[in-house]
Amino acid sequence: MIDLRSDTVTRPGPEMRAAMADAEVGDDVWGDDPTVTALEQKTATLLAKTDAVFVPSGTQSNLCALLAHCARGEEYIVGQNAHTYKYEAGGAAVLGSIQPQPIEFSPDGTLDLDLVVSKIKPDDAHFARTRLLTLENTTDGKALPVSYCLDARSVADEHGLSMHLDGARIWNAAVALGTDVAEIAEPFDSVSVCLSKGLGAPVGSVLAGSKRHVDSARRWRKMLGGGMRQAGILAAAGIYALDHHRDRIADDHAMATRIGDALETLPDMTVRAVDTNMVFVDFHNWEAAAAALDTAGVLARVGAGTSRFVSHLDLPADTPERLVAALSPSP
Ligand SMILES: *Cc1c(COP(=O)(O)O)cnc(C)c1O
Repeated sequence: MIDLRSDTVTRPGPEMRAAMADAEVGDDVWGDDPTVTALEQKTATLLAKTDAVFVPSGTQSNLCALLAHCARGEEYIVGQNAHTYKYEAGGAAVLGSIQPQPIEFSPDGTLDLDLVVSKIKPDDAHFARTRLLTLENTTDGKALPVSYCLDARSVADEHGLSMHLDGARIWNAAVALGTDVAEIAEPFDSVSVCLSKGLGAPVGSVLAGSKRHVDSARRWRKMLGGGMRQAGILAAAGIYALDHHRDRIADDHAMATRIGDALETLPDMTVRAVDTNMVFVDFHNWEAAAAALDTAGVLARVGAGTSRFVSHLDLPADTPERLVAALSPSP
């Protein structure tokens, strides 16, 4: 089965399931699930932050962070297409009375820092108070340069802003940049990471930061309904994923490159970009491509404009060849 819709579609394998079945558990809302605590400590250490909290989803993780950084009537500066703005059902506004100030991403996935500065509101009763800058790494598969994030930190410091990183795919960024996740996380006050994408765990994200930030986020998590009881069963999958699936993310990037190269040989489509584990393709006749993939049993999200294929650990090795076979014009 080939499923290119996202890296969220990965399923836990036998070893991960065995780790889940064997997990020692307790009641995490009381703070006594040892496996959850171990996952939180392990993630905090990897990211070189003081503390961390396990949450059911990346959306809830980002929302807990936004709520911990910003009060009612305050705002965060964010990318127009960022998950924390566009793909979280307006949670910050609905549940936090926090105002987003979206700006366009530059083509490389950064937010232009002059543009960021131009959106910071002066201290004036007319305006929401600008509190936070949120960045995303990777964004559309692109890894943000470490030097850019350090520059963003200087700008944030000059203007008294905190910084949050939506690092759902920070593992891919680390592989692409050839650095470790701690260096990527360093300029940020808080970092959210996903266990359920390229790492292949079935559920879960972790939010890391200072003890004060994480204490506050933990309270918001409870309010949002994210306080889980014997969650060690889920945390065990996360620990397994961190121990066994981080290094192999390089294989996903190699697979994306092979898929891009294979599609380039075909007519009727333009490969726009290959970044980390994502391939972006324009099909000249997307209805025909969607039908051909459907006939071949390939799951993919194909539409007008640019379509995105995502590689992950459950793709068969011959995926590029099977895509070419499915999409080749009939003789
Ligand atoms: C997937 C993703 C999230 C979190 O998604 P959930 O489905 O809520 O776990 C957050 N940010 C980005 C950039 C993502 O891709």
